[in-house]
Amino acid sequence: MVGGPRRRLSTEAVHAGEIHDASGAHIAPIFQTSTFTFDDMAAVEARAAGESDAHMYSRGGNPSRAALAQKLAALEGCGLAEGEAGAEIFASGMAAITAALMGTARAGDHIVTQQVLYGSADHLIADVLTGFGVTNTRLPGLAPDDLEAELARRPESAVVYLETPANPTMGLIDIAETCGIAHAFGVRVVVDNTFATPVLQRPLELGADVVVHSTTKFINGFGTVIGGAVVSADAELMAGEIASLIRFTGGVPSPFDCWLTNLGLKTLPLRMERHCNNAMVVAEFLESHPAVDSTAYPGLGSHPQHDLAQRQMDGFGALIAFDLGDYGTATRFLDRIELCALAVSLGNVDTLVEHPASMTHAVVPAEARAASGITDGLIRISVGLEDVDDIVADLDRALGG
Ligand SMILES: *Cc1c(COP(=O)(O)O)cnc(C)c1O
Repeated sequence: MVGGPRRRLSTEAVHAGEIHDASGAHIAPIFQTSTFTFDDMAAVEARAAGESDAHMYSRGGNPSRAALAQKLAALEGCGLAEGEAGAEIFASGMAAITAALMGTARAGDHIVTQQVLYGSADHLIADVLTGFGVTNTRLPGLAPDDLEAELARRPESAVVYLETPANPTMGLIDIAETCGIAHAFGVRVVVDNTFATPVLQRPLELGADVVVHSTTKFINGFGTVIGGAVVSADAELMAGEIASLIRFTGGVPSPFDCWLTNLGLKTLPLRMERHCNNAMVVAEFLESHPAVDSTAYPGLGSHPQHDLAQRQMDGFGALIAFDLGDYGTATRFLDRIELCALAVSLGNVDTLVEHPASMTHAVVPAEARAASGITDGLIRISVGLEDVDDIVADLDRALGG
């Protein structure tokens, strides 16, 4: 759309990237095809000369994937100039994170990241990328003074990688402040925005160079797809390294998965509103329950970074971490929940509850888990869209209330 005021986020969620072709179909078909035909060699030549954006083969690109990429770029880029942000869609969040890091750091480069990370991202940085000559430093909470000192000490630093809110402890990082420090050293900032989604937090507006997502979570929202995305306003990076990595490492999503995710994304603003409202009620219930030792939710006044949450986010999300003190008590609780499901993943319409130390973060060595506050009594809940009274009743019963 050229001219006129920029459309708001909820409108972009419904309309951006939608395909309206000659068939008149209101909802785009699923382009379930591996290859694309050309009318003649002139069409092939036009594509080769960059005069047409016709698709040729679905590993390189597919309309279902392009539609989802456009919608997600419109949401993450809502506060930027029209069309400034671009996105690429991957077969999983991990494929997207791998592409974002391989696209911004190469052998000999250094990554600085926080202590507490999503378990598989932790493993990728600590054990996989190191095998390709990319080293790393872990700084608790990416504390600004420590970050500045580390970037000064390691001139080979190429990327600061961060997650906020952090999984599973719900610690926050100031994105704008981190970008200010990193950019002074010519270092790029990559932000995993899975927990917040563009509805609650838009890192590109705050100065981040690259946003990554596990679209498996809130963006799809219904628990039907594994997927990921890289979003950036750096057109050179997107057309260069990221386009090259998806094409030549081949971690592409199926057209059907893109179609399902695109459908889910349309209701993201509405779902996030209900997720946030329900989670606030659940967090207040947990905080006041005598069987719960501690509750971490950015929306609670007791969260040590509540002020930052209010500044940086447009809502506090669906994820809450709470501690029941020890493994036995946590196990008893998890065995007793009925409405809430004992399952990893998050951001679904259903409420999901998990035990990080033995599930999502089991790949993190025990000492590192302890240093990160991932105790044996810690539980993570992703509050769903059920009636909040039913969620609270289930938790209350399982807590023995
Ligand atoms: C799930 C998740 C990932 C990994 O995404 P997959 O789609 O499972 O590959 C990365 N970061 C965060 C914060 C996640 O929750």
